[in-house]
Amino acid sequence: MSITQPNRINDSRSAQIDPSGHIVQFYDSDEYLLNTLTGFVRAGLAAHDGCIVIATKAHRAALERRLAGEEPVRFAIAHAEDAYLALDARETLAQFMVNGTLVPQRFREVIGGAIARAGRNGRSVRAYGEMVTLLWLDGNSTGAIQLEELWNDLRESSAFTLCCGYPMKAFEGEAYAASFAEICHRHTHVIPDESYTSLVTADERLRAISLLQQKALSLEAEIAERKATEERLQALINMASHELKTPVTSLKGFTQILQRRLRQQDADPQTLLFVERMNTQITRLATLIGDLLDISKMETGMLALAESDVDLDELVRETVENVQAATTTHRLILEGTTHAVVLGDRERLGQVLINLLTNAIKYSPEADTVRIRLSRDGERAEVAVRDFGIGIDAQYHERIFERFYQVTDQHGNTYPGLGIGLYIARTLLERHRGQLCVESNKGAGSTFRFTLPVIHSAHPALGGASLDTLDTLDTFDKVADSTP
Ligand code: ADP
Repeated sequence: MSITQPNRINDSRSAQIDPSGHIVQFYDSDEYLLNTLTGFVRAGLAAHDGCIVIATKAHRAALERRLAGEEPVRFAIAHAEDAYLALDARETLAQFMVNGTLVPQRFREVIGGAIARAGRNGRSVRAYGEMVTLLWLDGNSTGAIQLEELWNDLRESSAFTLCCGYPMKAFEGEAYAASFAEICHRHTHVIPDESYTSLVTADERLRAISLLQQKALSLEAEIAERKATEERLQALINMASHELKTPVTSLKGFTQILQRRLRQQDADPQTLLFVERMNTQITRLATLIGDLLDISKMETGMLALAESDVDLDELVRETVENVQAATTTHRLILEGTTHAVVLGDRERLGQVLINLLTNAIKYSPEADTVRIRLSRDGERAEVAVRDFGIGIDAQYHERIFERFYQVTDQHGNTYPGLGIGLYIARTLLERHRGQLCVESNKGAGSTFRFTLPVIHSAHPALGGASLDTLDTLDTFDKVADSTP
């Protein structure tokens, strides 16, 4: 791999691509990419090469407008003779990607075939591809790197020049440092984006590099400082939660003894009521401390799960009953079944559901019901908690799962809480190979759904029934449910 020092060509805003090897062009603006791409194809057509462009519809259309505008006759002839081949990136990708996995054999057939067509009559071939970019932008960085490898393998058997284009903003963030290096490593030439290549003199470029080096150093120092601060904060939260836990546990114990004694002594109702309220508040405090401790354990990888077979329907029924017993404002309505046994920590899975149920109640002060629906789709069991409350605007649907994130209203107020319940719930579910998501609109209530992989079916008549029998079981249930 080398960093290309692009020579400037007619167009002052584009880099010139060295016509050999496997090149990656980074870019900030589409305009800049199109300038470079036009130069790449224009030079290919002038040299009577076969040119393949596998790009989005918008990029192909813009490129063709430019090529046809500049040299209509040459472009028309190249098109007619297959010396210019344009393919849609998404559709081409779909031809060799099965269920989200790249199939190397299919790749060789599809892309190898296109290269052979463009290379007819002894033409040299140059190709530009955006399929890797699409994979990257889809969040599939592993797939993008695999596809770069497949291209490299193909280049070993048939010589052609290949160019890829990645928008620089797709690598924003420290988290991309390693994969960015991987992408560069997979190419023989790397062309920086226009903030560098549009500089004219060598002196300007050296200055730009020095400024970037200084910026990189400061950012590295800043990241290290933030990490250290976060670790100190984490240690403080951990220590404080541990220190708080002991007195709160003993407060709770004594309050319960007091409650029992007052009942035995037929104490006056108001005294009993006060002690009950104390007990409720101490329980809230204990839950908050427990949540903070959980966060600490999650961050330090110390959260241990005691896994066993869990009958999901039974766990949900029990948890709903317990939450209902402590709720006077809402009726919790449980519907459906999963007949699923899942592998998990029963207490932790219960904690996830308690969290969703208490949120559903807390965030629907004007409503009086919460619906819990159990269902099953093949090997996944689903629990959905639907409320009829304040709802959540789409812009917050991902953010609410972040640590300490709470949605604020137009006056900057939040409901009471620490904003960690959903983070803990999602992390716990991920540890159980499950998922948690939300569907909601502001003012229209929310549905939080989680799914878990089923290990086998729990049906009294069949014990550990196989997954195939489930449809039949569901039919039995529907009949049984409708029988008075
Ligand atoms: P907390 O409830 O302690 O603030 P969570 O992590 O449980 O923390 O929730 C994060 C944020 O998501 C809440 O502050 C709230 O804004 C929003 N939220 C969670 N559940 C609901 C719900 N059922 N309806 C509306 N908003 C919700």
